[in-house]
Amino acid sequence: MAIAGPEIERLIQLLARLPGLGPRSARRAALHLIRKREQLLSPLAEAMRIAEERVRACSVCGNVDSRDPCTICTDARRDQATLVVVETVGDLWALERASATRGLYHVLGGVLSPLDGVGPDDLTLDRLVERVAAGGVAEVVLAVNATVDGQTTAHYITDLLAPHAVKVTRLAHGVPVGGELDYLDDGTLSAAMRQRTAF
Ligand SMILES: [Zn+2]
Repeated sequence: MAIAGPEIERLIQLLARLPGLGPRSARRAALHLIRKREQLLSPLAEAMRIAEERVRACSVCGNVDSRDPCTICTDARRDQATLVVVETVGDLWALERASATRGLYHVLGGVLSPLDGVGPDDLTLDRLVERVAAGGVAEVVLAVNATVDGQTTAHYITDLLAPHAVKVTRLAHGVPVGGELDYLDDGTLSAAMRQRTAF
């Protein structure tokens, strides 16, 4: 039995698709938004409209931003010789939040996973090799998750980059086995980056 008109039900259904929000909390969030029309609903709707219009994937690293190349790629103060390879934009943001590196990034868009049908062509591996081959990169840090697929991917990339004069390292074992970067606390993430080891 619906307790509200289709517009509100639609809002609740869409909110319920957000990570971490179930039907109950989506209902609560919808009610909160409707109550705070001026302070929250209108600005949020406007921010979402602008994000929808302007946010794109960076053609260099795969980060998402309202400019392409992204803010990180165009920041001349960053260490241009270090390329940190991550699985997802969420991992990139986790490393940034922890101020774990001053290097540039490369977002793979996932990991190799034969079971899920994810092969090398589904990731941005070609672009990674192109960036390394273009020169100027001294170290590639494989900041992939400590999962089986993550480690398989790390080995694959190490082989891909073997013909190039670049040092390949990985995060230290502060990253728990099976651990996902986005869920680590900032201190652990920073330590794992500082104590990275040769691959
Ligand atoms: Zn970028």
